[in-house]
Amino acid sequence: MEIFDKITPLKAFLATKKREGKSIGLVPTMGALHKGHLTLLEVSKQENTLTVCSIYVNPAQFNNQDDLTNYPRNLEKDIHLLKEVGCDVLFCPDNSEMYDASSIISFDFGSLGTVMEGMHRPGHFSGVALVVAKLFNITNPDKAYFGQKDWQQFAIIRQLVEELKFPLTLRGVPTVREADGLAMSSRNQRLSSAQRKHASVFYHILLQAKEALINNVVMEEIKNQATNSIAPYPDIKLEYLELADRVNLTPFNSVGGNNPLILCIAGYVGTIRLIDNMFVDLPTKKEAS
Ligand code: AMP
Repeated sequence: MEIFDKITPLKAFLATKKREGKSIGLVPTMGALHKGHLTLLEVSKQENTLTVCSIYVNPAQFNNQDDLTNYPRNLEKDIHLLKEVGCDVLFCPDNSEMYDASSIISFDFGSLGTVMEGMHRPGHFSGVALVVAKLFNITNPDKAYFGQKDWQQFAIIRQLVEELKFPLTLRGVPTVREADGLAMSSRNQRLSSAQRKHASVFYHILLQAKEALINNVVMEEIKNQATNSIAPYPDIKLEYLELADRVNLTPFNSVGGNNPLILCIAGYVGTIRLIDNMFVDLPTKKEAS
């Protein structure tokens, strides 16, 4: 695996590979790699001749200084995992390589960026878009891979790609979960063993909520049920549970129309903030009968 921490040599390397006819798949990450990240890399390897992983903990997307300071980092272990999975190129720049002192650009995604994560993490998506746009310009990938676990991020990046005409294909990869349903996340590493046992409650709330929606229960009632579900766990706090249009993220109160819908949840286990989501598809008439 080739490792770069500077933009200029990486660009030159990838330009040569492109001239040789290689297709490039990009998997942007913040490191502390787990099976979710590795799945994205495996999909990229199947679909491209060269896979680039970036590892960069992007300060611009953190709205909470403690979260940035405590974000898990383990480059040596990550390099080992990347070699094991057969990643071709690692890009791991530092802050001075990615941001000039004069950086002033910000992004506004309108209604896509004001709900859910956007509401609770002001500035987050502007920071995500800024770093992803930089990574697209630096690596010029044919395809870029993102996890469905961060669904709103995926919707934001799709908008970015469409509006700024990035010449690439976006690929979404389904969420990889632990055996008890907890969505894999680098932040899970920071949970104590007691907290880890409780953390799958968010997944179970999503399952119950989906079942209730299919039985025509409205979100107001479902949110009350969710509050009851976390009541036995004093270390769990629910931040939001929302039903939304899967494409434009408009909030919905119940199922019934033709829009493809998604349930999104965010909450805390102790001081660790976790998110998750689940598609809600009504059973087809044949399935229901
Ligand atoms: P992160 O390092 O958390 O910024 O994540 C890097 C990429 O991996 C993003 O596109 C995430 O959506 C994706 N990702 C994170 N966790 C998972 C997971 N459990 N399953 C699938 N993709 C994931």
